[in-house]
Amino acid sequence: MKVLDGVYVDGAWRSAGAAEPLAVVDPATEEVVARVGAGSAQDVDAAVRAARDAFPGWAAAPPAERAARLAALRDAMATRADEIAATVTRELGAPPKLAKAVHTQLPIAVAGSYADLVASYPFETQVGNSTVLMEPVGVVGAITPWNYPLHQIVAKVAPALAAGCTVVLKPAENTPLTARLFAEAVHEAGFPAGVFNMVVGLGPVAGQALVEHPGVDMVSFTGSTAVGRRIGALAGGAVKRVALELGGKSASVLLPGADLAPAIKATLANALSNSGQRCSALTRVLVHRDQYEEAVALAAEAVAGYVPGERIGPLVSAEQRERVVGYIEKGVAEGARLVAGGPTPPLSRGYYVSPTLFADVAPEMAIAQEEIFGPVVAFLRFEDEEDALRIANGTVYGLAGAVWGAPDEAAAFARRMEAGQVDVNGGRFNARAPFGGYKQSGIGRELGEHGLTEYLHTKSLQF
Ligand code: NAD
Repeated sequence: MKVLDGVYVDGAWRSAGAAEPLAVVDPATEEVVARVGAGSAQDVDAAVRAARDAFPGWAAAPPAERAARLAALRDAMATRADEIAATVTRELGAPPKLAKAVHTQLPIAVAGSYADLVASYPFETQVGNSTVLMEPVGVVGAITPWNYPLHQIVAKVAPALAAGCTVVLKPAENTPLTARLFAEAVHEAGFPAGVFNMVVGLGPVAGQALVEHPGVDMVSFTGSTAVGRRIGALAGGAVKRVALELGGKSASVLLPGADLAPAIKATLANALSNSGQRCSALTRVLVHRDQYEEAVALAAEAVAGYVPGERIGPLVSAEQRERVVGYIEKGVAEGARLVAGGPTPPLSRGYYVSPTLFADVAPEMAIAQEEIFGPVVAFLRFEDEEDALRIANGTVYGLAGAVWGAPDEAAAFARRMEAGQVDVNGGRFNARAPFGGYKQSGIGRELGEHGLTEYLHTKSLQF
C-alpha cells in the first residue's frame, strides 16, 4: 500500500521523517485502508520555521484579503463535500447521513462564518485618548482530536488565519485522511506558502515537539483532559498563550413537570450522536423522582431505534471500544441497573458497542463522574431543584448542559449551571455562539467572535 504524504510545509507536500507510517483503519470493517507518513520533530521544526517566515506578510494582509482567502477555503471544502463525507465515514465510521450533515456541512459553515466576520471585525477601536489595536498572536500550534476530524481543525485554523496568525496543525493520528483533504483545500484556496502547515504524526512525538517549540507563540488544543493538563503545564512554563477544549460529563435536567417525551428523544439523540464520541454529549439525565420510572421506560423504548451499523456507527478504534466496555462493566459492578445494551458486542465485525442505558445511578459512581466517550447514558434521580443543581454541577467538568421545564424556570436553572453552553427546552446548536468549558473542561472559547479574539493580542496606543 502506497504511503501518502502527511506533511505539508511552505505550500508543498513532503515525505515524513518518522520511521513508521500511520495505519488508517476503517472501524466498521477493522481493515487497514491507508497508510500516511508520520512526521518527526524535524518536520515540526521545518513547519514552524515556514510559519514564522510567513507571519509578517500574513499579519499585514488587509482583512479583506484574509476574508477572500477564507471564502475560497469554504468553497474549496464545499467542492470536496462528497469526498470529505465519504472519508469521515471510512476513517471514523460515522454513518453517511451524519458524515454529510454534521462532519462536512458544519465545518464548511464555520469557515464561511470567519470569512464574513473578518471582513467586518473592528481590529481598531477608540477608547478616550487611546487607539486599541487587535493584533495577531503569531504562530499557532493547533492540535486536534479524531471525533469531529474536520470541524475541530476548522474551529481552530479558520479563526487563527482570520486573525492574521500562521498555523502548524498536528491532526489526530486516527483520522489523517480528512486532515489531508483540508490541507488540499487550503492549498487550492490560494493562501501564501507557509501560512498554513500540517504535520501528521503521533501525539508524544510531533504533538509534543510542536508544544515545546520556541517558535510557537500559542498552543490551541482539543482533546482529553489528561493530555490538556500536560500541554497547559508546558505552555505555562514557557509563558505561551494556550487554549484548551477538553472533556465533559454534561447533564440534561428534566425539571418537575417537563414534557418527558421530547426531552428524552432530544437528549438521547444528543448523547448517542457520533456513537457518543462527543465532548459535549448529554450523558447524565437527571429526572425528578416522581417522573423517573416513566422517563427511563421512554428512553428504553427510544434507544431500540438506534441500531448498530445503521443509525449508530462503531467507535473509532479497538482501544476506545475496550475503554467503553470497561466502563459498562464498571457500571454493572457498581450496582447500577442495566436498562438497555451492555458489554456484549452487537456485531461480530467492527468496533461497535450497543447503546447502553443505566438507571439507579448514584452521583458518586464512576459512570456518573468520568467521561466515557461512547454510547452510554446514566439516569439519576433528584428530589427537588436544589438537589438537581447540586448533582448537575457536581463533577470536575463544565462543558455543556440542557434543561427542560416551564420556560421561566428552565431559563433560571440554566443560568445557575456551571457549563459553557446550556440548551433550554431543545434550543439548537449555534455555530456562531462561543463554545468551551468551565472548570476542567477547558480554557478559552471557540467559534464566532469569541473564537477569533483567542488569537488576538490587545495593544493600546495613547495620543
Ligand atoms: P487525546 O488527548 O488523546 O488526543 C488529542 C490530540 O492530542 C491528538 O492529536 C493527539 O495526537 C495529541 N496528543 C496526544 N498526546 C500528546 C502529547 N503528549 N503532546 C501533544 N499532543 C498530544 O484525545 P482523543 O482521544 O484524540 O480525543 C478524545 C478526547 O477529546 C475526549 O476526552 C474529549 O472529551 C475531548 N474532546 C474535547 C472537545 C472540546 O471541544 N472540549 C472536543 C472533542 C474532543
